[in-house]
Formats: sequence, structure tokens, C-alpha cells
Amino acid sequence: MVAVSSMRTHGRIVDLKNGKNVLTSCGIVGDNPLPSVSVQIPMGTLTHETAVSRAREIADRVLAPVAAQNDKAGRFSTEAVDALGRGGLLGLMVSPDAGGSGLGPRTFAAVTAALAEADASTAMVYLMHVLGAATIAAARPGADVAAALRAIGAGRHLTTLAFSEAGSRSHFWTPISRARRNGSGVRITAKKSWVTSAGHAQSYIVSSLAPEGTGPTDSTLYLVPAGTPGLSVSGPWDGLGLRANASAPMILDNCEAPSGLQITKDGAGFQVMLNVVLPLFNLGTSAVALGLCRATVAATAAHLKSARFEHLGQSLGESLPTLRAQLATMQIDTDGLSARVDDLIDHLERPRETTLLRVLETKAAAGEIAISVTSAGMRTCGGAAFSKNMIIERLFRDAHAGAVMAPTGDVLREFIARAMLGMPLF
Ligand SMILES: Cc1cc2nc3c(=O)[nH]c(=O)nc-3n(C[C@H](O)[C@H](O)[C@H](O)COP(=O)(O)OP(=O)(O)OC[C@H]3O[C@@H](n4cnc5c(N)ncnc54)[C@H](O)[C@@H]3O)c2cc1C
Repeated sequence: MVAVSSMRTHGRIVDLKNGKNVLTSCGIVGDNPLPSVSVQIPMGTLTHETAVSRAREIADRVLAPVAAQNDKAGRFSTEAVDALGRGGLLGLMVSPDAGGSGLGPRTFAAVTAALAEADASTAMVYLMHVLGAATIAAARPGADVAAALRAIGAGRHLTTLAFSEAGSRSHFWTPISRARRNGSGVRITAKKSWVTSAGHAQSYIVSSLAPEGTGPTDSTLYLVPAGTPGLSVSGPWDGLGLRANASAPMILDNCEAPSGLQITKDGAGFQVMLNVVLPLFNLGTSAVALGLCRATVAATAAHLKSARFEHLGQSLGESLPTLRAQLATMQIDTDGLSARVDDLIDHLERPRETTLLRVLETKAAAGEIAISVTSAGMRTCGGAAFSKNMIIERLFRDAHAGAVMAPTGDVLREFIARAMLGMPLF
């Protein structure tokens, strides 16, 4: 067992120091991640408000009109990624020095939820990109990542995480693959089981055990550019939900990673997974769940207003109190999730003793709520939803991904109880 002492004894995220924002302490965002609109901001950067309204515009104009077709065809939307890049959203959390907007988790969550309301597949592509960009931004001194970061800031570079391996499955913190020394760099051979945006990203953040690592979590993270010899998509993506996000398996076959593209120090991948990736991933997947819930409530309410019992001269909503009660329950659960997401954001902006628990709890709760609300939407809208005349069945399928994406809902419960009992998490 690896003893992560600060987690075990204080319930804190490992690198939290002096009460600083977890992301600030990693150099990802400034101390004040939410510049007010009255603050003079460099030309081309986004404020919270402009970022969220741009996300809504892209969701309405680019994502929503083709979400159903892309879902059916399992088609990755390069137009969506282009629009996000042109809109400045790919560089949302990247520092202004690298051409980004330097915004924080609050804006990231709002943008992700807005995208997910229209198309959860694209929202997940965006979320994995933001995590990858944050990991690159937190690179060790001496890493040669400035060009990649500038390309992300300019909206011309999509990145993603390639952590999960076929051998260790959802336990992404214990890769099976081990990098081998190759001069000052390494060579990596690995079977990555799911990689969102596989074959579409410009780079992949790859985990592998450090060449001299002794423990199961002694991993190192590398930036592997698309086109690296030996890197390939090794199978199709044909999921139940999130069908348009190309979460296909990938293989690294003796891929060369020069020392400049080593993002973490040897064996320090695990700490970056915990400090940088986990808080943002759990927030982002919760925001995707929130977007799915909001879209389901809106579609259900619209159906209850428009579908009619002609023989009774009433809409479904007017006619049946049971359906009204279902709709109300869905709304209560959705607003409850929204409050949880806000609470997590507050805990990330002002880290405290309870931050780790909130990081774990919010994703665990969000996965269940998304399944519950979309299931209620299916039932409330009856055969109309079942026969795919509505968007709800897509939302229902998409909602099932959150709970199985690692850390899964089961693993989160295990971590939460261990943290509560003062036991080591790993
Ligand atoms: C749409 C989608 C996109 C993805 N994108 C990416 C990506 O971009 N990058 C990436 O690295 N990975 C990605 N993944 C992989 C994901 O994070 C998980 O690794 C994967 O879903 C795990 O599936 P599995 O069958 O290997 O689970 P398994 O590990 O086989 O788990 C099976 C069951 O056992 C439970 N379980 C496992 N361990 C424990 C435990 N310790 N205690 C209690 N229960 C446990 C799980 O909750 C699950 O119910 C993606 C997955 C999906 C579905």
C-alpha cells in the first residue's frame, strides 16, 4: 500500500500548501482565477462571462444541430473542436503568457456543462483536453512543452489523456507498461484501453511506470505527439453512449519520448494525477452530468407541454399528476447537483480540510444523479422517448459513462470511506 499521508490524515489533496488553490500551487492558474469584467484584460483573452456565452453559442450553432447524427454514426466532430479553438475555449485555463485566458475551475465547469447540454460527446472531448493542457502547464522545469502550450493557447492543438491500460483496467494510477531508457529519453510500449479523441488529438499525455520505479504507482507522464512512430489507434470506438468522442484503444509500440517531452520527474506521475488531474476530472465529469440533467429536464418539460391526449383536450402535463411529480423530482435532483458542483468549485478555489472529500463525493453523486434523472426522463416521456423520437434516449445512454469512467463510482466510495476511517487510499 502506498501511504499518501496528507490524504490519510487530513483529507487534503497532496500538494495543497499554505491554503493555496490546488491549481495555483501547480502553476496552472493565477491566484485569482476569476477576473471581474471590470478588470483590464489582455486583448483576445476571455472573461468568465464571455467564455460561458461563447460556449453557449457554439453549443447552439455547432453542436446541437448535428449531435443526433454524430451519435448515430459514431462520428467525431472536428467542426466542434475547430469552433472551440477559434472561440478561445481550448486555451481557457492556459496562462495568458502562453496565449490562454488563465481562467479557473468555475469557468471550466460552466463551459463544460453548457457544451454537455447540447452534446456530451464533445463536452467529454473538451474536458479531457483541458486536463491534458493543465498537465502540460504543470510540467517539470526543463520540459520542452512551451510550443505545445502556445499552440493550445492559440486554439490549434487538441490534447487528451492516455492513462487507462488494458492490464490495470480502471486502476489508472498503476500502469502495467514500463518505459525503457533510451539515451537521455525513453521508449514506451503500452496498450492504452480507452483514449478520448483517439486519432484526432495533436498530442497524448501518456502514463508509464518509470524505468527505475520500484512501486506500482511510480509512473511518469510523457507528452507524445500525434504522428510519433509506433503510436496508433488499435480498434474502433462503438460505445453505448458518448458515441461521438472516439474513445478508442491505442497502442504505443516502442515509441520514442525524448527527455524534453517528459512532463513529470521520474516517478512523479502519480502526484500529478492526484493534484492536477483528479480535481479537474471529477469537476468536469460532474459538469457533464449536470448538462445532461438540464437537457433531460428541458426535453421532458417540453414534451409534457406539447404532447396531448386529444380525447381529453389536455397536454400530458395538464392531465397526469404522476408525470408532474416525476418532472419535479428531476428538477430537484438537477438543482441539487448544481449546488454540489458549486460547492466543489468553492472547495477548489479555497482549499480546506474537506476538499478531498468533496472532490471524491461530487463525481460519485453526479454519476448516480445523471443516471437517475435521465432514467426518470425516459419513463416520464414513455414510448416517445423509447422509440428514439426524442433526444432523451441519447442523454440516457451518455449519462451511463460518468459512473464507469475512472475513478469509477465504486472506487470513489471505497476512497471516501477509507478517508473517513483514516485509512490509506492506495
Ligand atoms: C466513454 C469513455 C471514455 C474514456 N476515456 C478515457 C480517456 O480518455 N483516457 C483514459 O485513460 N481512460 C479513459 N476511459 C477509461 C475509464 O476511465 C476506465 O478506465 C474504464 O471505463 C474502466 O473500465 P473497465 O472495464 O476496465 O473497468 P474494471 O476495472 O474492469 O471495473 C469493473 C467494475 O469493477 C469495479 N471496481 C474496480 N475496482 C474497484 C475497487 N477497487 N473497488 C470497488 N469496485 C471496483 C468498477 O467500478 C466496475 O464497476 C474512458 C472510458 C469510457 C467509458
